[in-house]
Amino acid sequence: MEDCIFCKIIKGEIPCKKIYEDDMVLGFEDINPTAPIHVLLIPKKHIKDINEIANEDLNLMAHSLGVIKDIAKQMNIKENGYRVVLNCGKDGGQEVPHIHFHIIGGRKLNWPPG
Ligand code: AMP
Ligand code: ZN
Repeated sequence: MEDCIFCKIIKGEIPCKKIYEDDMVLGFEDINPTAPIHVLLIPKKHIKDINEIANEDLNLMAHSLGVIKDIAKQMNIKENGYRVVLNCGKDGGQEVPHIHFHIIGGRKLNWPPG
C-alpha cells in the first residue's frame, strides 16, 4: 500500500513516537491527541477497516487486544481506565484507511460520544 501513511510509518518512511512494537503490530503516539494519553495501535499488515478483516486476520486482532492491555499498563492508565476506539468508514469518522485502535485515557472521558 504505497500511499498509506500508516504503512509508511511501519516502513520508517514517516517518523513516529513509538510506544510498542512486535512482529505483528506497532503502537505510537497520535499526532493530534484528544487526551493526555492517545496511542494508536496498528497491524503491520495493511487492512483497510473492520469490514476488510479476513478470518485469517482474527488471530492478529486478538493479539492486538492483548497488546492494548499491555500498553495500558505501560502508559499507567490501566487502573483508572481508558477507552479503545475502532472507527470504521465515513460515518464512523475513519480518516486513515489502515485499521487502527485508538487507546485513549489520562482523563475522565465523556460518554456517549457524538
Ligand atoms: P481516524 O479518524 O480514526 O482514522 O484516526 C486517525 C488518527 O490518526 C487521528 O487521530 C490522527 O491524529 C492520527 N494521525 C494521522 N497522521 C498521523 C501521523 N503521521 N502520526 C500519528 N498519528 C497520526
Ligand atoms: Zn496501510
